Amino acid sequence: MSYQKIKGTLDFYQQEATKMRLIETKAKEILKTFGFEESITPIIEMTDVFIRSSGENSDIVNKEMYTFLDRGNRSITLRPEGTASIVRSFLENKLYINSPVTKLYYCGPMFRYERPQKGRYRQFMQFGIEVFGEESPFLDADVIISAYTLLSALGIKGIKLKINTIGDFASRVNYTAKLQSYFADKIDDFCEDCKQRLTKNPLRILDCKVDSEKDVVKRAPKIKDSLSDASLAHFIEVTTILSMMKIPYEVEDTLVRGLDYYTDTVFEFILDTNDDLQGLAICGGGRYADLVKNFGGPDISGIGYAFGLERIMMVMTNQNLFTDIDKKTDVFIISLDKESKRLGLEFANQLREEELVVEMDYKNYTLKQQFKLTEKLNPKFIIIIGEEERENNIFTIKDTQNNTQEKVKKENIVSYIKSKKQ
Ligand code: AMP
Repeated sequence: MSYQKIKGTLDFYQQEATKMRLIETKAKEILKTFGFEESITPIIEMTDVFIRSSGENSDIVNKEMYTFLDRGNRSITLRPEGTASIVRSFLENKLYINSPVTKLYYCGPMFRYERPQKGRYRQFMQFGIEVFGEESPFLDADVIISAYTLLSALGIKGIKLKINTIGDFASRVNYTAKLQSYFADKIDDFCEDCKQRLTKNPLRILDCKVDSEKDVVKRAPKIKDSLSDASLAHFIEVTTILSMMKIPYEVEDTLVRGLDYYTDTVFEFILDTNDDLQGLAICGGGRYADLVKNFGGPDISGIGYAFGLERIMMVMTNQNLFTDIDKKTDVFIISLDKESKRLGLEFANQLREEELVVEMDYKNYTLKQQFKLTEKLNPKFIIIIGEEERENNIFTIKDTQNNTQEKVKKENIVSYIKSKKQ
């Protein structure tokens, strides 16, 4: 076979695909109880949508986007994250007109040209939410609670919430100046990106993949000492509610998150399990007070998060949380000649109307070969159709769980199997 998948992409098939959809379904169920509705946006957007949202200086825009010119010479980008598209769609469709608060979730592939490694891919699935129209710290807390609830509902153990505030605009102006003066005489030892960041967005030095572990970075001024009164009060309220709701969290004052648009509350759920997945980031998000306005929309604050389905799958597999996902067959129909196969197909589709999983033999397999097939599929019932059965209108049904068999008339097959199936 001469074709291989593109580096950094994954195939999901059979059980693996079932696992991924299971997570997605559970997440949707939980978020519906929080009042969310789905948003489906295109995978491609005009490149400017992402430049406007993530910021010209972000790693995503500078190094990681899949951008190309289409045949009409427009610059198009495969979405690297969900928020920008949702904000664009929220504004373009004026969703703010109908209700003061809009709660949306989305699920789909994202594309980033990153160095592939375990848990880091170039195409990956994100499930995320965005809420527009409310600035209250109660909403921040409720959004974080929704993420915690769904990670818990999936059964994941050892999740740790890391939370911080990066303040409002006033706090950031103050803090940026402090960081610039602190790093001014130290920046020569930093990577080229950080040298750029010093003038453009020094906060990002704090989560630089190359330099953030340096002691000088750890000793840098903390945002908590530069917060405006409003931002401090906001953060205290959020953490008070989290404590009240018994959500375990840790304030991490170097957490700033990779995108330029965040303000006030930022958070991440990581794994704290003391195994080889220790520290894995599974969900990240935060508030963005100015993003909608920066897109040319009204002054509406937003908040959101996204989690990576591949990473959740990895964790759940590691913790043995996928049970009962094997393919199940309720009925297998053994048919011994062409005419019997036609009838078998008719039976199969009658039974499927009752939501039973039905399989049959499509080849010219012998009786013995077909029984061999049932060993693999392990059906609860086996129906046997041959010339004699067709002529007498009586069919043998084997109940494999109770190891019994009975003769049943054609018109009674569906009701017989339904009554027997636990
Ligand atoms: P971000 O959009 O960078 O805040 O990431 C949110 C979540 O998406 C992370 O916590 C990961 O679970 C997941 N994620 C981000 N980047 C990747 C990637 N390259 N491969 C797989 N999952 C990712």
